[in-house]
Amino acid sequence: MKHQYHPLGFEGSRISQGFWRMNEWGFNAQERLAFIEQAMELGVTTFDHADIYGDYRCESLFGEALKIKPELRDGIQLISKCGIRLPSDQRPDVRRYRYDHSPEHIIRSVEQSLLNLDTDYIDLLLLHRPNPLMDPDDVAGAFEHLFTLGKVKHFGVSNFSPAQFDLLQSRLEVPLIVNQIELSVVAPKHIEDSSLNHLQQHAVTPMAWSPFGGGALFKEMGLSSHQEEVKGVLQKVASEQDASVDQIALAWLLQHPSKICPVLGSGKVERLSSAVDALNVSLSQDQWFDIWAAARGQPLP
Ligand code: NAP
Repeated sequence: MKHQYHPLGFEGSRISQGFWRMNEWGFNAQERLAFIEQAMELGVTTFDHADIYGDYRCESLFGEALKIKPELRDGIQLISKCGIRLPSDQRPDVRRYRYDHSPEHIIRSVEQSLLNLDTDYIDLLLLHRPNPLMDPDDVAGAFEHLFTLGKVKHFGVSNFSPAQFDLLQSRLEVPLIVNQIELSVVAPKHIEDSSLNHLQQHAVTPMAWSPFGGGALFKEMGLSSHQEEVKGVLQKVASEQDASVDQIALAWLLQHPSKICPVLGSGKVERLSSAVDALNVSLSQDQWFDIWAAARGQPLP
């Protein structure tokens, strides 16, 4: 049976904007608001956060902007993550970097994210990283509590393997609708390790974090010979397609049949605009395979 796909499994946009780096952008609250509104005008309405981003500060920076124009909330979807304890001046109680999937931590983290983001609900909550000490029944209790109170609408995971995903899902009443994984032409391992096949089989959306390798693709200097080769192939395809390198790198992800949803991280709205135009780029299979061969660094077997 064929599943009906919806970007993200809920009313989200195919391309999301991430806010991991927002504390580096140097925007005041009005500029943050303008960035959010410009993204929305481009059709990018899904915004990716985590409790820990920017040393626990990025959610509040976003929330301050949203407070200026709270009516925007109905037109956007907020993702947040929890499950990492990051030592910080903001959290004097946290002494060691580790993971924590206890119900207390998950619920406390969400309550704090709601305050920081200035919202009553999170559209999608992800467990940030797999945790060897995770008790899936504990997570199930926390998710049910948050869902029943209307504080979280949907749930998912990040950086989970297929087996880790299946274990957690087997104990949950609610479906996991997303696995957010690292995926790009500079980090292509999940193209061939069956993660995407598994998600596609279960009609779960793969979100790709760092779709430009965190900017590695655009460095002028200091690229490894492998990165130079990948960039060379992207440039060749870009000139064939009359498109830019960033658009080709994104089109390569978008064209995968698992319906990958990229999460971008630039603070420059023109980069987001270019990314949205990549939705109209269609690579030939020859071009897709040329990029894959360069990305994996070895000829196809
Ligand atoms: P990215 O889009 O791959 O990298 C963004 C970086 O690349 C920025 O420094 C940006 O600089 C630069 N860049 C982008 N386009 C460029 C261009 N055309 N020319 C030159 N530089 C360019 O993504 P990311 O920021 O690493 O990650 C994206 C989001 O994924 C994060 O915000 C976060 O929401 C999410 N994430 C999730 C996880 C997880 O474990 N789930 C991990 C990491 C990230 P400028 O700002 O100057 O454009």
